[in-house]
Amino acid sequence: MANYTELVSGLCQVFRSGKTKKFDWRFQQLTKMLKMLEENKDKFCEALKKDLNKSKMEACLTEVDFCRNDLVYCMNNLNEWVKTEKVKKNFINLMDTCYIKREPFGVVLIIGAWNYPIQLTLLPMIGAIAAGNCVVLKPSEMAIATAELLEGLLPKYLDNECIKCVNGGIPETTALLAEKWDYIFYTGNSAVGKIVMQAAAKHLTPVTLELGGKSPVFVDDNCDLSIVANRILWGKCTNAGQTCIAPDYVMCKKETQDSLAEAMKKTLREFYSDNPAKSPDFGRIINDRQFQRLKKIMDHLGGGKVAVGGETDETQRFIAPTILTDVKFSDPIMQEEIFGPILPIITVQNEDEAINFILNHEKPLTMYIFSQNSTLIEKFLESTSSGSVCVNDTLMQGSVPTLPFGGVGNSGTGAYHGKFSFDTFCHKRAVMERGLRMESVNSIRYPPCTETKLNR
Ligand code: NAD
Repeated sequence: MANYTELVSGLCQVFRSGKTKKFDWRFQQLTKMLKMLEENKDKFCEALKKDLNKSKMEACLTEVDFCRNDLVYCMNNLNEWVKTEKVKKNFINLMDTCYIKREPFGVVLIIGAWNYPIQLTLLPMIGAIAAGNCVVLKPSEMAIATAELLEGLLPKYLDNECIKCVNGGIPETTALLAEKWDYIFYTGNSAVGKIVMQAAAKHLTPVTLELGGKSPVFVDDNCDLSIVANRILWGKCTNAGQTCIAPDYVMCKKETQDSLAEAMKKTLREFYSDNPAKSPDFGRIINDRQFQRLKKIMDHLGGGKVAVGGETDETQRFIAPTILTDVKFSDPIMQEEIFGPILPIITVQNEDEAINFILNHEKPLTMYIFSQNSTLIEKFLESTSSGSVCVNDTLMQGSVPTLPFGGVGNSGTGAYHGKFSFDTFCHKRAVMERGLRMESVNSIRYPPCTETKLNR
């Protein structure tokens, strides 16, 4: 079994030297990361094509340019973020200086997932470096081409003494997790999230867990269903449904279901023509295991009917964008996160039935509400909980760097993107600086206890 004790102790020593804490070092590394993204854009797109058949537009929009934008935002603001933060004081502290000093944790481990193999590794790394940490990055072994590319490029651009990339699968990740880290940032499924948290607990290491779950969509009556269909299907079909914040299932009234399914049929034809298998814009399932898992869902539909799609091709790991109608909450597809291009529609009596279903299950990573009724929107916001919410669109909430990206409960703990990434990788150290004068004021808190002191 691999052993990373030396790797980690080496990084601890470098961290102690103070090299990574210097602002210039952080800024220089971020500049080099930007250069890496710009000079290798085509290579990144090619790797994503190989791993997931991502189109160039999708690869740029959701991975390469996505990271670039976050990186530029970070570089433009880092000067401000690193400043100490003065805090309000009360009367007895008026003469003191009180502030929060953001300091790096030390040596941090970042474990990425395969579905956005560039974004899910580089985005947290931006925060970790900006905060002044040493980093070990473990890309997902499932996205092979991207993992190899990262392993080759990172040492060419970044300071290899402080930033390491380790490739490998479960044995390597298990060995990494056995080490003592100052912070662990994990992205992936909730079951492995528990393994990561248990390993971290042995050393009381703080964690961020970016996990998944079934993210619901509620479609209210009286919405323009052609717009709703476009926006839901864009979110569902991006990366062939392998997106953590993809809409997992739709709930609407019986009267809305048939018109929505019809509108969705039209949208799919517009997006991918009548033959999505031939469309250059539609992705593939990452590997055979995931393909078989999705195929099994399609083979055991329960009450659901295929309104559109349903075709599969094992040789290409292709699953057609598929809309299912009349699905029941008890059907097999509703028992786990779908994580593929299959969209069940479930009819409900009213919004209360939808809210009750959400409340009776794990807190989702995100929630989508399509409605023009502010009272109904407020009702969902007030009575449910999820990592994020987006009203009248999908995925777009993840593109706002001033909004935290993360889950709650079973869908995760902690958040990142923009300044939230920087803050994630900083310990907020409370500092109080006092002078040595005015000792008479302090004498009231020293023993011995006297009546006079008590009655002041
Ligand atoms: P994955 O298989 O790539 O696993 C993620 C990481 O965990 C990999 O680096 C892998 O090596 C490691 N790993 C896997 N099994 C392990 C084990 N037994 N012990 C230690 N490490 C192990 O990705 P996945 O879990 O299939 O990812 C899909 C899930 O991740 C979905 O549930 C999705 O919703 C979620 N996800 C969440 C986010 C988010 O930001 N919240 C983003 C992407 C994916």
